Amino acid sequence: MEASPLRLYNTLAKREEEFSTIEPGKVRMYTCGPTVYGRPHIGNYSSFLMADLLRRWLEVKGYEVKHVKNITDVGHLVADRDEGEDKIEKQAKAEKGAVSGQRSAVSAEDVIAIARRYEELFLEDERVLRILEPFARPRASGTIPEMIAIIRTLLDRGHAYETDDGIYFDVHTDLEYGKLSGNTLENLESGARIAVNEEKRHPADFALWKKCVGENAHHLLRWRYPSGERLSGEGEDASAGFPGWHIECSAMSRSLLGEQLDVHTGGEDNIFPHHECEIAQSENSGPKPFSRYWLHKRRIDMGEAKMSKSLGNILTVPDIVAKGFDPLDLRYYFLSVHYRTNLKFTWRGMEDARKARLKIVEWMTEVEGQERQEGFGGTYAEKFAEAMDGDLNTPAALAVLFDAMKETRSNPSLDADQQADVLHLIYIAGRTFGCFESSAENIPADILALAGQRDEARARKDFAASDRIRDELQSRGYEVRDSKEGTKVKRK
Ligand SMILES: [Zn+2]
Repeated sequence: MEASPLRLYNTLAKREEEFSTIEPGKVRMYTCGPTVYGRPHIGNYSSFLMADLLRRWLEVKGYEVKHVKNITDVGHLVADRDEGEDKIEKQAKAEKGAVSGQRSAVSAEDVIAIARRYEELFLEDERVLRILEPFARPRASGTIPEMIAIIRTLLDRGHAYETDDGIYFDVHTDLEYGKLSGNTLENLESGARIAVNEEKRHPADFALWKKCVGENAHHLLRWRYPSGERLSGEGEDASAGFPGWHIECSAMSRSLLGEQLDVHTGGEDNIFPHHECEIAQSENSGPKPFSRYWLHKRRIDMGEAKMSKSLGNILTVPDIVAKGFDPLDLRYYFLSVHYRTNLKFTWRGMEDARKARLKIVEWMTEVEGQERQEGFGGTYAEKFAEAMDGDLNTPAALAVLFDAMKETRSNPSLDADQQADVLHLIYIAGRTFGCFESSAENIPADILALAGQRDEARARKDFAASDRIRDELQSRGYEVRDSKEGTKVKRK
């Protein structure tokens, strides 16, 4: 059901705009996923949560969302530049080297194994954070022929050139280069470091393809250019190479979503160079605009400092759980602050988030018991929708929930319409925020099994057994409640 129009802050337009799609009712959405050389930190997840929030809200509004989120498993070099080591190969050498004592004893299979392991941990974190599964999770290493196809088009059209060590995009040929980030070729030139690569025509030219020569002679994951055939072995080979980081997203989005997207999301750190370069590649090999809307999540700081691996102050989802929090507390914490506000993470903030979330869960459980209804109801549900339609204003949307909580508690005799409104609100808020179910993760499996046995006993009308199991659950510290879906347990 489409109610009021959604307005989003578009980084490309540098203002809020009304959202509309290429195809009515359908959204093609692309999110830059992680580079799997380590377990992503909570700052990375804050960006994925913003994308998840947008997707959920679009779905509540009735859109069909086709969401693609990639896995970068090759070609992302340290410091996000064209020189230096591949982040994943570097990590593989560090981990294997720590065991064997020999940094060079690493094979392509070891690199792949490292990438897959961190990919697994990433998926595990996404599951406990209740991030919805996208339509597809393409891997960069599985999209090489599509990348080469774009590179060849760019070469044919004169937007790229070949050097001894790779193929580069020629920024001079793109009059719109800089339109997303606000950079100009002049300020990029004066801000450039001493030229590392003498063959580049402009310091801002960026690698589409790197050849396995010179400092990349030992790159392990490599493909033949232009056939795209996977190669084994290492050593100097100019016909072998690997893709640049930016071309990966242009190819993965095109192969799964087509040449034009409705919305592209990422962290603010991605605006330049990554997203600027994606636009240049896609629009010079295909139609404009590459994406109609660009949404960026402001970063998370640790108190006053930037959260970064090099500062050693990053936190992961398991770090949060180890402190006794539910991953959904983190979800609530991040969603309670507007996505374009720079959140300064504190444990105090985590604690407040937990309390607020549990308050809402408790209230929702109180009000529950009647059929949840779809669709926007009266005032509260409308106010909630208004807040979300105003550039995903989650703090304002949560304020509506707290207002409803206050009113239902001070006035228990709501009439049928008011009751329906509150139930609508609970329904859409639950789907949008995704953190108001009580979390099953923290309840041990044997307790959940007992709850299941109690349901079976009740189904066969063995009330003596059902009571016995209830007593046991209570004696083990759990509150027992009956609901339409069966026995619900909660820590006392
Ligand atoms: Zn990307």
